[in-house]
Amino acid sequence: MMAQQHASTPVVEGLFEIVAGTPKLIGSRCQACNNIYFPQSLSCRNPECRDKSVEQTFLPHCGTLYSFTVQRYQPPPLFRMDHWSPYALGLVDLGDGLQVMGMLTRIALDEIIIGMALKLVVEPLYSDAGIGEKLTYKFASAEGAWAG
Ligand SMILES: [Zn+2]
Repeated sequence: MMAQQHASTPVVEGLFEIVAGTPKLIGSRCQACNNIYFPQSLSCRNPECRDKSVEQTFLPHCGTLYSFTVQRYQPPPLFRMDHWSPYALGLVDLGDGLQVMGMLTRIALDEIIIGMALKLVVEPLYSDAGIGEKLTYKFASAEGAWAG
């Protein structure tokens, strides 16, 4: 029996892209001051910057955990997720002062350590028959038994 096929698309257009099998977050880099923004920004938000024109750039694929919080209650309906269970939301340092929020995955909640090495992965967030599968980015441990 054939499994029914649905298109898999990012939960928000322009958040990330799979480049040669590796998921990468898409940000904006200011061509004048080199500040990087994620999610993408239409112009530089640095008040001291005069040019403000930005170009699309891929963010580093790996980072370290700067801080995190555990969501133990179900978020409001606007934030959809299948198979809901408590999860960790991390603030991940990607280098050069760039920090990105993302869900942590493939790590037991009691094994999360500030400073641990993380890598970007893409996982399904929810799906339904009308729209297919929606994907989001998450951060997984870059080393140990959970790495893959
Ligand atoms: Zn700028």
